[in-house]
Amino acid sequence: VKYTYMFGAGQTEGKSDMKNLLGGKGANLAEMANLNIPVPPGFTITTEACTHYLANKGLTDEMQTEILAAVEKLENATGKKLGDNADPLLVSVRSGARISMPGMMDTVLNLGLNDTSVEGLSSKTENPRFAYDCYRRFISMFSDVVLNIEFSKFEKALEAQKKKSGIESDTNLSVDDLKEIIAVSKKIVKDEKGFDFPQNPQEQLFMAINAVFDSWNSQRAITYRKINNIPGDWGTAVNVQSMVYGNMGEMSGTGVAFTRNPSTGENKFFGEYLINAQGEDVVAGIRTPSEISTLEAKIPDAYKQLIDICQTLEKHFKDMQDIEFTIEEGCLYMLQTRSGKRTAKSATTIAVEMVEEGLIDKKTAVMRVTPAQIDQLLHPMIDPKCEQKVIAKGLPASPGAAVGKVVFTPEDAEEMVEKGEKVILVRTETSPEDIGGMYVAEGVLTVRGGMTSHAAVVGRGMGKPCVVGCGDITISESEDKKFYVGDLTISEHDYITIDGSTGSVILGQMPLIPPEINEDIGMLLDWADEFRTLGVRANADNPEDAIKALELGAEGIGLCRTEHMFFEDDRIPVVRSMILSETKAEREKYLAELLPMQRKDFTEILRVMQGKPVTIRYLDPPLHEFLPKVFELKSHLEDLKNGSAALPQGITLEEETERIEKMIDRVVNLHELNPMLGHRGCRLGITYPEIYNMQTRAIIEAACSLHKEGIVVKPELMIPLVGHVRELEITKKDVDETAQKVMDECGVQIEYTVGTMIELPRATMTADQIARKADFFSFGTNDLTQTTFGFSRDDVAKFIPLYIEEGILPVDPFVAIDQEGVGELMKIGVKKGKSAKPDLKMGICGEHGGEPSSIRFAYSIGLNYVSCSPYRVPIARLTAAQASI
Ligand code: PEP
Ligand code: MG
Repeated sequence: VKYTYMFGAGQTEGKSDMKNLLGGKGANLAEMANLNIPVPPGFTITTEACTHYLANKGLTDEMQTEILAAVEKLENATGKKLGDNADPLLVSVRSGARISMPGMMDTVLNLGLNDTSVEGLSSKTENPRFAYDCYRRFISMFSDVVLNIEFSKFEKALEAQKKKSGIESDTNLSVDDLKEIIAVSKKIVKDEKGFDFPQNPQEQLFMAINAVFDSWNSQRAITYRKINNIPGDWGTAVNVQSMVYGNMGEMSGTGVAFTRNPSTGENKFFGEYLINAQGEDVVAGIRTPSEISTLEAKIPDAYKQLIDICQTLEKHFKDMQDIEFTIEEGCLYMLQTRSGKRTAKSATTIAVEMVEEGLIDKKTAVMRVTPAQIDQLLHPMIDPKCEQKVIAKGLPASPGAAVGKVVFTPEDAEEMVEKGEKVILVRTETSPEDIGGMYVAEGVLTVRGGMTSHAAVVGRGMGKPCVVGCGDITISESEDKKFYVGDLTISEHDYITIDGSTGSVILGQMPLIPPEINEDIGMLLDWADEFRTLGVRANADNPEDAIKALELGAEGIGLCRTEHMFFEDDRIPVVRSMILSETKAEREKYLAELLPMQRKDFTEILRVMQGKPVTIRYLDPPLHEFLPKVFELKSHLEDLKNGSAALPQGITLEEETERIEKMIDRVVNLHELNPMLGHRGCRLGITYPEIYNMQTRAIIEAACSLHKEGIVVKPELMIPLVGHVRELEITKKDVDETAQKVMDECGVQIEYTVGTMIELPRATMTADQIARKADFFSFGTNDLTQTTFGFSRDDVAKFIPLYIEEGILPVDPFVAIDQEGVGELMKIGVKKGKSAKPDLKMGICGEHGGEPSSIRFAYSIGLNYVSCSPYRVPIARLTAAQASI
């Protein structure tokens, strides 16, 4: 096996499609070298070497020999020698996994320096200040990353020296200052570790390589992998690269940039740099960097070359690139290129514009945006009608607004969220240890750092609203958990709102509203529609939702839950009277009152949908849901008796007492032990056919009158909770009879279909029998999940979180379809249904209809459509397209 691959200096061995072996960074360094882009030469130690190392718990002799051979090649290429006393080769050692894991793994710069080679570097560069600054940095970084000594100890030593010499900026440290810092730093190592700082460069190199490999299994890397579903056995590569120096003076610098704006997508070079600094200074957010365009005036040639290289890279990789560069005394070097992480807005804009530029095709564009990003676009915004009390402004690093209680540590964030609270994580700056806390927070606010700082990059990747570099605020140094802005003090658990699109920090809880779909997203979703074969409908119970659904691209309504219409204020008393009726005649009287109300609902919805299919489901929930609670009735009775509640007009206390007591009896009587498995669904339609008959009449009357107006209508009537074909037969017979009667009365014939929900295991197992009587199936995966697992939908919160934490279940099965269990039943249902009726139309209308993995599953088992809440329609359109590309 070959463990090392050279790059640069005309001896490049890798290329960009070798990411699995060389990691993303190594493969792209090789690719840049192949494109004749200036890259400091080096070599990559493969991910295979990492897995081998982890299995062997160390570097084998064979690996060590190969690494030393690669070092020799590098020495020949650069004409310098590791540890040389006159002109030493210095290298950086960095990790680079297959896909970028920002800040997850560790980096060591300036490796190869020791007490004698530092003098070589000093005389060779004729710049002792520079040489000793490198050595100082190397000791602290190596000690932090490799020796696990707290970095702050070295920072303190630096600060102490600055104070002693009365200087503010690092760049003003004198050689003597630096020498003193080095001496103190070495003493820290000795005190902490009991051994001297390693002087042998080869030993330094092997220690650093081991540390990078070990960091693959650091807690923060494991957390990141867990969140992002990255397999633990991939391993990371290590890149050993000859150093170039951004800290050699005013014609040197280092920066991070994106070929297009990662926040807005604007096709304009975007980035930040620091003059006279080394790479980590930018990313760490310690010094606040300058905006990239100002580099043109300072080092014009390098800037122009940088722009050219960016264009080459974009053309070559056909995607927006995130680059790192260093300028050493006017000479530009590229240290990294990779596809840039971006916001959802930026992703859509870039995808659409790259199609317009002819760089990619529409299919590629559709694949470039993830369902999660579309979700991010649908994140709420602060209601613009509300006055905002902006207390501070930072950089708008990741869009969307978030409201939550202030917490100051990732641990507190996790603890609060576990209790069901929403939090905003407020930090001076974030580091990879904060990932877990950032993940659970609604949003992140930092005091320091630029648009490419850790918080910004990670926030964008997570789609988490994020405001960074908010220098207006100060976090109290002590442990009292407060932050200050002007003369305000904000304590832990106070509410704030942050707006990651504007950078605003607002006191209190602002009302949030959902965003609009912009032109680029509209275009991308139109392209998605060209490629997808899976239909997308919406669950909508009223005209407003139906309008929203159409606006967001729904092709019909897949589920109109009629019970929601019964809950409206003016209707609930009639509904209650209907339910509490003791005779059929009494019930019919109240149903007659409900009829015009339902007819109006259906007329409006069918009118809005303009001939698109509308699936209307008959009354489904257990009746008790509509009734008042016994304790409420009792306390109302008390209030009437003691005069604190008013009697209805013209009714005596005795009459009202009798009425309420009767009602209490009836409510007690209707009480069910397991209402979700009780008197609901088609069981209601069979025991009280007059209820379903009223609903049929309302729908068909609405359809007939619209038909007379010349409006096309396509009602699809759906019977819920069918488990036995006879249940469908009986209810359908009533539906057809009533529908015919109404059509005869109206003197019009309209087309309608009658189908059923498949939401009980028995329905899936007997789907062939049911299919013979049904015009369509709609999988009710909420109830099917409930009845397959035997998990009560209303009680799962008590144990599902633990199930997920313990790994008993990978995800909540009420969020993503349990493909092994519930999904298998669905497959049986589809197969049996089709065996009886090959062209039976089938869809899904449970909550899963808007969840990406479930949508892909629905496509894979051959369903015709998914139906989801209006706001998830765009996610469904995109996911459906991606499933079929
Ligand atoms: C279902 O069970 O999946 C469904 C859509 O119906 P409901 O949630 O109204 O029971
Ligand atoms: Mg259901």
